[in-house]
Amino acid sequence: KRALIIGRWQPFHNGHYEIIKKISNEVDELIIGIGSSQRSHSLKDPFTAGERMMMISKSLENLNIRYYTIPISDIDFNSIWVSCVEALTPPFNQVYTGNSLVRELFTEKGYVVKKPELYNRAEYSGTKIRQKMLNNQNWEHLVPKSVVDVIKEIDGVGRIKRLNEKDY
Ligand code: ATP
Ligand code: MG
Repeated sequence: KRALIIGRWQPFHNGHYEIIKKISNEVDELIIGIGSSQRSHSLKDPFTAGERMMMISKSLENLNIRYYTIPISDIDFNSIWVSCVEALTPPFNQVYTGNSLVRELFTEKGYVVKKPELYNRAEYSGTKIRQKMLNNQNWEHLVPKSVVDVIKEIDGVGRIKRLNEKDY
């Protein structure tokens, strides 16, 4: 069985790690779609697809799962979006998503769509973690250690703060 999960992973956090660990017990292989892959350097999408791929591969190093990370850019054309995903990924027979639009589009094409359970959503949330980075609050405990290393390497927190500076 080969499954697909799509996220923006901005950044890859402990909730993502937990759900992938759980899925890894249910499937043989996992396709991890990097959604909005063309986006970076904005407050909602600060990290590039390549940086997000580094976060994922370093975090999953010790998990016993074969996976493929595939960048998927936005097409703004919902009715053909599933075909575009299929054109980029290995074949899959199951989809994991918490997003209602993604669920609808894959279900209409006949896929089995499962809703991943959420772990500590109050804290394990990309939006909340990015907010903490901006506000000098502790965020490091909310992501895998390797993600802390990647964000340090690229000065990700500095990037987010600079992006938030106002024009004069
Ligand atoms: P953002 O706030 O930027 O949308 P996010 O935390 O929702 O970030 P996404 O990249 O949007 O993260 O989500 C990717 C996938 O991970 C989705 O399928 C989502 O259901 C799942 N996910 C997100 N947060 C958690 C969590 N705390 N526990 C389990 N799964 C999660
Ligand atoms: Mg989300």
